[in-house]
Amino acid sequence: MTTLRSGSATDVGRVRQVNEDQFLEDESLFAVADGMGGAVGGEVASRLAIEALRDAFDLPRDELPSAERLVEAVEAANQAVWERARDDADLRGMGTTLTCLALVRQGAGDELAVANVGDSRAYLLSDGEFTQLTADHSLVEEMVRSGELTADQARSHPKRNIITRVLGVEPEVEVDAWLLRPVAGDRILLCSDGLSNEVDDVDMAAVLRREADPRTAADRLVALAWDHGGTDNITALVIDVVEDGEDGVLDDRAVESLLHPRGDGAGTDPGAPPSSGAGVATALATRVGADPVARVSIGDDRPPPAAPPTPPAVTPPTRRITLRVAAFLVLLAVVIAGIVAAVEWYARDSYFVGLAGRQVVIYRGRPGGFLWWHPRLIERPGLTTARVLPSRLPDLRTGMQEPSLGAARRYVRNLRQEASSLPLFRSTTTTTTASHARTGSSTTTAGGH
Ligand code: MN
Repeated sequence: MTTLRSGSATDVGRVRQVNEDQFLEDESLFAVADGMGGAVGGEVASRLAIEALRDAFDLPRDELPSAERLVEAVEAANQAVWERARDDADLRGMGTTLTCLALVRQGAGDELAVANVGDSRAYLLSDGEFTQLTADHSLVEEMVRSGELTADQARSHPKRNIITRVLGVEPEVEVDAWLLRPVAGDRILLCSDGLSNEVDDVDMAAVLRREADPRTAADRLVALAWDHGGTDNITALVIDVVEDGEDGVLDDRAVESLLHPRGDGAGTDPGAPPSSGAGVATALATRVGADPVARVSIGDDRPPPAAPPTPPAVTPPTRRITLRVAAFLVLLAVVIAGIVAAVEWYARDSYFVGLAGRQVVIYRGRPGGFLWWHPRLIERPGLTTARVLPSRLPDLRTGMQEPSLGAARRYVRNLRQEASSLPLFRSTTTTTTASHARTGSSTTTAGGH
């Protein structure tokens, strides 16, 4: 079960008379709408959009809607605003942005769906990394993409208020949408351009990192935009993933249905160029590998615009280790530790009687060692090769293995007894011992005479 916690703040700003921003802060549905048009139109458009979104997304309790339902709810909001503008002359031409986040059910797990029309934004703060999730549908954003403007220049550009996609001005609207896996500790910011035009990403991220409480964070962001000029209505909505779902992994079928929601529209053709925002979606997809994040292409008849490059303001998202990968790594570590323990046990739990120069000694370990474990000399019983039966020497050179230290000692004792019971063997030593022992054996031979 995924748990979200949120906090919000909105302010009319220093210049405007009316706050045309509206937001929705529900249990699992969050949205920011920035209305525009006419004397009262903007306010009406954003309010209508939010209400229609909430009504269309609503489902009976204990049932999480799908990401597709969120997109359909945005389309319903578009319809509601458009119909109202068509029917009421005073409201003609009104429209609104709409950026929303919803907890949805995809396949087996909970996911977060983000949908966007216009230039209100969604940002993600994850592992300290601050990323813009949405791509603005605005003129300056297109100029940034084509390299005519930098992100900084765009923020203060005189034409920054011109948006290229709006909710409520046409009977149909194309909705950008993304899915991301809820991860505990992640923080999402929804905001109107009154915030993002006044405060740059670095400062926004700093506030979001510093203020643990989402309400306080939203307040600070709005206050910062106000301090920086407050030329527009300012809205900030901060959503924290407090607890993430059991698994949250999309199964392939769910991704498939998201990638091809209608089976025919634009964006469903894998060969077609990605429509605006796809750069961000692609970047998102790299966060968790290819499958858990997918872009929902809302196909209508319009061909997608030319492929834009990823906006430079978007920092490359970090790769995240999924639960499955983590579980696999833990399992791997356990298996490796098991192998190490087995080798240690096998290599150490043995003794052998061998040679160190002319000394008969007892080693712990396996003759020649085993993998990284080399035998260790642990006892010198004080017996030289000169006092060992020649027939035993080949065994001693290769190492005579014994299951325990006691057994190794018994073996050495036997060597001693064999030698003392056969006094004649000493003379033969001169001819059978290895060359390096020859000087020693000659003195023994001399002593024997
Ligand atoms: Mn605005």
